[in-house]
Amino acid sequence: MDGAEFRTRGREMVDYMVDYIEGITSRPPLPRVSPGYIRDLIPDQAPRTGETWESVKADLERIIMPGASSPACTELEVCMMDWLGKMLQLPREFLFCEEGKGGGVIQGTASEATLVALLSARTAAMHKLRDDQPELTQGQILDKLVAYTSEEAHSSVERASLIGMVHMRLLKTDERGSLRGTTLETAIREDREKGLYPFFLCATVGTTSRCTFDNLTELGPICTRQGLWMHVDAAYAGSACICPEFRYLLDGVEHSMSFNFNPHKWLRINFDCSAMWVKDRYAVTEAFEVNPLYLKHDHQGQAIPDYRHWHIPLGRRFRSLKVWFVLRMFGVSGLQQQIRKDVSLAKMFERLVQADDRFEIFGEVVLGLVCFRIKGENARNERLYKMINDDRRIHLTPSKVKDIYFLRFAICASSTQMADVTYAWSVIKELAHKMAASEKR
Ligand code: PLP
Repeated sequence: MDGAEFRTRGREMVDYMVDYIEGITSRPPLPRVSPGYIRDLIPDQAPRTGETWESVKADLERIIMPGASSPACTELEVCMMDWLGKMLQLPREFLFCEEGKGGGVIQGTASEATLVALLSARTAAMHKLRDDQPELTQGQILDKLVAYTSEEAHSSVERASLIGMVHMRLLKTDERGSLRGTTLETAIREDREKGLYPFFLCATVGTTSRCTFDNLTELGPICTRQGLWMHVDAAYAGSACICPEFRYLLDGVEHSMSFNFNPHKWLRINFDCSAMWVKDRYAVTEAFEVNPLYLKHDHQGQAIPDYRHWHIPLGRRFRSLKVWFVLRMFGVSGLQQQIRKDVSLAKMFERLVQADDRFEIFGEVVLGLVCFRIKGENARNERLYKMINDDRRIHLTPSKVKDIYFLRFAICASSTQMADVTYAWSVIKELAHKMAASEKR
């Protein structure tokens, strides 16, 4: 859909909304549908190729309006989470269609998903400790709990531990930025020797600073053996795993208890939309369920989830509508094409950097993030970064890992093209040249 069509369709939608509001008294106040009605009306997976807007819009009246608002909101979310889960080839235990205990929910952000995972794991661990050692007070139990993540995990993970009031250890990564099994095992052993109770690991697939990957196939079995809840945070990199050639990045996810990625980062779905799956939804509702009379309804305890027990807020928006629209308008192949275009532009930028012997690539370019630096001291890179941003033609962000300062070139806007990349590189080269000239003076 180009800009001109978007204007036309947008105006049509405004007309539709006004007609809805003006004709609201002709619609029944309560929906006449029964639980599970949407599953019978839509396909069980996302379309391979994009559909027309006309067909999507027609389904609004046919499928959504009969269940307005809450039943449709919940039911479409259930179906969209299964569509997304199948696109990622998640283990079937995470999907609703499997008749097990798993399922997915749309959270607002990855930060919330991590917090929900940590609090769910904390509740389960506290029950276990209370059963094993009934003499302990709640405070003493909390003092014993210890969670882990890597030193390269997003700051939201550490923040979840602050909110959850549990101790979190930031474990060292290897030289490729990956948290390894032996490091986790050593930490668990040390903590058990101190009388502590390790209960949670947040592993990252695609770290924020330099897009590195924790080793899920090593970490997962350790967590299973040692009774830790493994949560996988793939906020950025998860979207790429809809392409078969990148799916290997999720190898080992089958060992996790929960998994999350942000379609709003790289799947053309607007903020906010963070997709989270759990293997045991009762472990989540156990941590969050409160049932006042004013929120009770006739379908409680049935197959359709009560999402208000899956996160912190009680009220929720109809986020699955935008997921439905995007998956149908682009189709899986359209979204794969976008990921591949961005990764190939990142690879192109990598080649430009490699061809200039003043620069070096920092780490490995796997997806759309290229970390690079001027060879030599951090101070020169800090100067170059300042010059680039003061110049104001392009914008980059820096980072520092294991005391190495580097610049980050991220391809993430759907409109980015080859010409934008070559332009950005010409600006960087020009400023690097200017910096070198000023250093000689
Ligand atoms: N985890 C990772 C790996 C991220 O890269 C980010 C954000 O960039 C987050 C978590 C936090 O995401 P959100 O803003 O959705 O909370």
